[in-house]
Amino acid sequence: DVTLQDVRKEFDGVVAVKNIDLQIPDGAFVTVVGPSGCGKSTTLRLIAGLEQATDGTIQMGNQDVTGVEPKDRDVAMVFQNYALYPHMTARRNITFGMKSAGDFSDEEIDRQVAEAAAVLDIEDLLDRTPGELSGGERQRVALGRALVRDPEVFLMDEPLSNLDAKLRIKMRAELAKLHSEFGTTTIYVTHDQTEAMTLGDRVVVMNDGRIQQVDSPQRLYDYPETRFVAEFIGDPA
Ligand code: ATP
Ligand code: MG
Repeated sequence: DVTLQDVRKEFDGVVAVKNIDLQIPDGAFVTVVGPSGCGKSTTLRLIAGLEQATDGTIQMGNQDVTGVEPKDRDVAMVFQNYALYPHMTARRNITFGMKSAGDFSDEEIDRQVAEAAAVLDIEDLLDRTPGELSGGERQRVALGRALVRDPEVFLMDEPLSNLDAKLRIKMRAELAKLHSEFGTTTIYVTHDQTEAMTLGDRVVVMNDGRIQQVDSPQRLYDYPETRFVAEFIGDPA
């Protein structure tokens, strides 16, 4: 499980995350949804270790990871604005993390890249550098890099936001399929209610730095616990 206990994050004066408690079971696909500025990305970055909590603790499995470096947490993060190495080919960007881990044979690496590239439909783009790719293509390469790392937990921050509507719908289906095959715990941030409700087996609704409700999509519809949840979920994106 990933467990946040009483986690608070303050950036000089701004409290981005206000004492949240959250427990994410192994294998869950959890979506985090809420309006701009409500603390979604900060929560994800705290789990990744890219921000340190002002107060509270974060556990992964039996390990207390509060204060542990990002590289020592078994997570792979896909950002809103994918950060690819501009001088490396797509293939090299994807394999970079794997190769430095050093425990895969070349054949194994080629097989995993081919598998990820097929899912993401980037087979023909592997020898290009990011400068030679569209925004959506770059985003798919960034997803490929996360996939081949095969982490304990995927952290995704609006990973489909730069894709056109058609591709976004296709990629949602692919992500759902990948999750049903591999069962990797996934925490997926989006401000899109439809995306949150279709992808998540559990949905975390946030507003103003606080968690409003954590429930299945059906229960959020049927039993919203606050007026905010009722209005936000009912409100088409
Ligand atoms: P969006 O949907 O627009 O991406 P979000 O829910 O991801 O929003 P966060 O990025 O977590 O929101 O930001 C939450 C609050 O914390 C905002 O008020 C933001 O301005 C503030 N904040 C985030 N990062 C920093 C930072 N490094 N320094 C100061 N304030 C920050
Ligand atoms: Mg954000």
